[in-house]
Amino acid sequence: MKRIVVVGGSIAAVTAASWLRVRGFDGTVTLLSAETEQPYTRVPLSKSVLSGEATDASTALPPLDDSVVLRLGARAVSLDTRARRVILDSGEPVPYDGLVIATGARARRLSPRGMSGERVLRTLADCAALREDLRRARSVLVVGAGLLGMEIASTCRTLGLEVTVVDRDPPLRRVLGPVLAEMITSAAREYGVVLRTVPCGVRLVGSHTLEGVDADGDLLTADVIVSAVGDVPAVDWLTGSGLTLDRGVVTDSRGRVADGIVAAGDAAVVRGTCRRPHWTNAVEQARVAAAALLGEDVAGASLPSYFWTNQFGVEAKVAGEPAELGEPDRVDADGSSLLLRWSAGAAATVNHTMPVRKLRQLASAP
Ligand SMILES: Cc1cc2nc3c(=O)[nH]c(=O)nc-3n(C[C@H](O)[C@H](O)[C@H](O)COP(=O)(O)OP(=O)(O)OC[C@H]3O[C@@H](n4cnc5c(N)ncnc54)[C@H](O)[C@@H]3O)c2cc1C
Repeated sequence: MKRIVVVGGSIAAVTAASWLRVRGFDGTVTLLSAETEQPYTRVPLSKSVLSGEATDASTALPPLDDSVVLRLGARAVSLDTRARRVILDSGEPVPYDGLVIATGARARRLSPRGMSGERVLRTLADCAALREDLRRARSVLVVGAGLLGMEIASTCRTLGLEVTVVDRDPPLRRVLGPVLAEMITSAAREYGVVLRTVPCGVRLVGSHTLEGVDADGDLLTADVIVSAVGDVPAVDWLTGSGLTLDRGVVTDSRGRVADGIVAAGDAAVVRGTCRRPHWTNAVEQARVAAAALLGEDVAGASLPSYFWTNQFGVEAKVAGEPAELGEPDRVDADGSSLLLRWSAGAAATVNHTMPVRKLRQLASAP
């Protein structure tokens, strides 16, 4: 294999490109990123970068090895697996011997095309636009009470804005389960966030501009409306390629998609599992997939999945998936710091210092 093309411009793509070198690949590695910025991390975009505490520049990922060809503003629009070429929006074909798909996801929007006024948060540009709006605002309505929506709400409260969050489910419940979700929800209430649960969902109000949402007959409006209603895997460019797409590009446990093609990160879903759109997963999948592309049989992560969130003065670290597991079997408390364990395979800490590896081992311990 002489030429490996990595499509994507963030953590999964950068990790895969670096890992190819770590594993000794000495051919050409070309990274094609649709974005015009140097690769950056999204994690602080809902936290310190949105608040203005940290700069946009601070989000830069560590620079790639000089031997990796980084092409910015290079959006892939289709894939020809027979001819082994990625086609860019300029029409240029980029040939490959090996391909890494790491195109991540984009923010899901609620408003129809042509309606303005709905902010989302996925990119540096989204963050800059939202931050600018917040500077002139007194109130914010966040639609979506998942991890991202609640982090945005938390940041907006620290900026002194009036914040309402609306969702069809109780905040954070779908991702954290009742116990952990309730802890953070209480902190959100103490911060002064107004939380609305509308089981039948909200209806957008407005014609050309989004003016608010109808929440079970109540009109909720604010100076800024931001939705955080999930992400959509950015795999449209693979339509017609013959690769299996099912809420992401489907891989085996080693990230393999087809002969000479692997995928990792938010764009990928391991066959028979749910997509895990979290930072650590993107890093780990990218390493495994890069090795698999080079023909190494490195097993996927043996430890449970892991993610974290920071909001309302709470730092929660979660290993495994407690959402469906109900009450934890064990809670160790030390002041405001907590360690929770579910014997069915999850563990979490709240404002508690513990190495991530140890937490993940604890989650999988019998
Ligand atoms: C605001 C925010 C905060 C977050 N905070 C946390 C957190 O606290 N903890 C946590 O665990 N996770 C967090 N996450 C999730 C984490 O950031 C993602 O899981 C991670 O970014 C996934 O990386 P990725 O490289 O797979 O995809 P992405 O980050 O989506 O990157 C995909 C890249 O591919 C490029 N691309 C897309 N389509 C094309 C194309 N056709 N051609 C070329 N390039 C293309 C994109 O421009 C982008 O550069 C957060 C996410 C967001 C949005």
